[in-house]
Amino acid sequence: MNKNSDLTKVLQELKSIVGSNNFIDDVQDMGAYLSDWRNHFSGQSPLILKPTSSKMVSDILLVCNENSLSVVPQGGNTGLVGGSVPSNERDEVVISLEKMNNILDIDPVNYTMTVEAGCILSNIQDEALNVNRIFPLSLAAEGSCQIGGNLSTNAGGTGVLRYGNAKELVLGLEVVLADGSIINSLKRLRKDNTGYDLKQLFMGSEGTLGIITKAVVKLFPIPKK
Ligand SMILES: Cc1cc2nc3c(=O)[nH]c(=O)nc-3n(C[C@H](O)[C@H](O)[C@H](O)COP(=O)(O)OP(=O)(O)OC[C@H]3O[C@@H](n4cnc5c(N)ncnc54)[C@H](O)[C@@H]3O)c2cc1C
Repeated sequence: MNKNSDLTKVLQELKSIVGSNNFIDDVQDMGAYLSDWRNHFSGQSPLILKPTSSKMVSDILLVCNENSLSVVPQGGNTGLVGGSVPSNERDEVVISLEKMNNILDIDPVNYTMTVEAGCILSNIQDEALNVNRIFPLSLAAEGSCQIGGNLSTNAGGTGVLRYGNAKELVLGLEVVLADGSIINSLKRLRKDNTGYDLKQLFMGSEGTLGIITKAVVKLFPIPKK
């Protein structure tokens, strides 16, 4: 994007997609979104967007794609390698998933939970315990990190040898691609031997292939000891 007037117009369009309560355009209020918690990485952005639905994420990416405007998905911003922080050029819009934080379904019989990507990891653990199950992903950032960030980084955590990395704890995903199209693969099926397992491409790819908006995660029995 070259011309300032064009950028202003596109930013206005993005603001109207999310509505007045769901963006930050004042640089004074952006601090928490522009650097990591250790202050090893920092950047600048013209706009922080906080969509509340997959449709909004789709509309945002469609507009950004059509106008060649770069985006940075951001979860809890606890990553340690700067992947969630925009560049210093002020040319990347931050898309924070923090308002997509609903637990959509919990099925203790099938040992699954369907969540929005912005759910804080410790909230998912708590909800599982409420139905006598565990969600075994656990790491020191669990009070701040989001499941979308955990899956995008394929996080390990303290239970990794017993339960596997984050990508092994997922049955289904919903992802929005750069052109705004939504891949809905929110399956709860355990014996799924159909075709390619596309969802695995998005886990560990740090938002480079799409924005994770929902997931079906696996629950487990509470260990007796
Ligand atoms: C104290 C501490 C302990 C930690 N311990 C561990 C550990 O034991 N094991 C381990 O593996 N990691 C650990 N980490 C790092 C870990 O990767 C992150 O804490 C967590 O998984 C990232 O989640 P987040 O929501 O904060 O993501 P962010 O930091 O916000 O983002 C991380 C990356 O994912 C992308 N992203 C975020 N959300 C989405 C989305 N919805 N869709 C697509 N892309 C997205 C971002 O663009 C960025 O590239 C630790 C971090 C801290 C601070």
